[in-house]
Amino acid sequence: MTEELLAVRDLKKHFPVTKGIIFMKEIGAIKAVDGVNFTVNRGETFGLVGESGCGKTTTAKLILLMERITGGTIHYKGRDISLLRGSELKSHRGSVQAVFQDPFSSLSPRMRVKDIIAEPIVVSVNAPSKTAVKEKIAELLQLVGLRKDAGDLYPHEFSGGQRQRIAIARALAPDPDLIVLDEPVSGLDVSIRAQIMNLLRDIQDRLGISYLLIAHDLPVVQHMSTWVGVMYLGTLVEIAGSEELNENPVHPYTKALLSAALPHHPAHIREEIILPGEVPTPFNPPEACKFHPRCFRARDICSSVPPLFRDIGGGHFVACHFIDDLRKI
Ligand code: SF4
Repeated sequence: MTEELLAVRDLKKHFPVTKGIIFMKEIGAIKAVDGVNFTVNRGETFGLVGESGCGKTTTAKLILLMERITGGTIHYKGRDISLLRGSELKSHRGSVQAVFQDPFSSLSPRMRVKDIIAEPIVVSVNAPSKTAVKEKIAELLQLVGLRKDAGDLYPHEFSGGQRQRIAIARALAPDPDLIVLDEPVSGLDVSIRAQIMNLLRDIQDRLGISYLLIAHDLPVVQHMSTWVGVMYLGTLVEIAGSEELNENPVHPYTKALLSAALPHHPAHIREEIILPGEVPTPFNPPEACKFHPRCFRARDICSSVPPLFRDIGGGHFVACHFIDDLRKI
């Protein structure tokens, strides 16, 4: 049975834009995240995909409580975590961990690997004994495929892929239920990427952990994810099961991403879509459907009425006025 672990509802992060030096006047806002809804189920991976600047990393930071939300809610195991403070916040932090893109800058060069991995355990509310920490480090090194003596070395003594294994071991140390993977393989050589993706999937199978995967590379997201959400300019335009999204994409932006990423796939070969222009700035974004200035299906209504995010069956959601027309294409 599916169990909801993380529920994000109408999530917003607006950064105020000010003018003036002494009397700073607010002249608008950068709407980095603007009404995002999705769910991560236990043991599953939810992948967020979109071009650079679409708001996916800000969404990750909000969920990791690295940024304060402007609006909406983030429920984790049924509790609104944006309201947590003090010891409740401290004990929650162990339950949601992160692995970032750059293993070079995310690991302290002055700490031995064993201390890096131990850090999130020893600062936890119920820190275990030294012996238990030592056993845990040995267990984690084995789980991520590193040698037993790797704990005595420093990060610079490892390759990029091995460093990402260390980052994964550190994220696993406090036994989290959810790991936010922010572009976990994009800083690695192509030959190493598949190894790290397979490692993450093996760990998920063994531990039943959930992932929120953030990436700009659609094939990576589809390979790893149970569900995929496509983000454009701070909002989600389509959510579907990974296979369903690949076989039956509906939103024009999803179709464009797929046609660019997988041009020879039989589901997308019938049309080659090249989007005009760049993603607009999230400061004063386009009205109504934010995608309308670049959309090859846009009509008058698209610039005046925002499309609803509608369930078209089986957990497939699309934000577009012309869903029925687009499904025929
Ligand atoms: Fe394109 Fe209009 Fe659909 Fe927006 S609502 S994606 S502009 S057709």
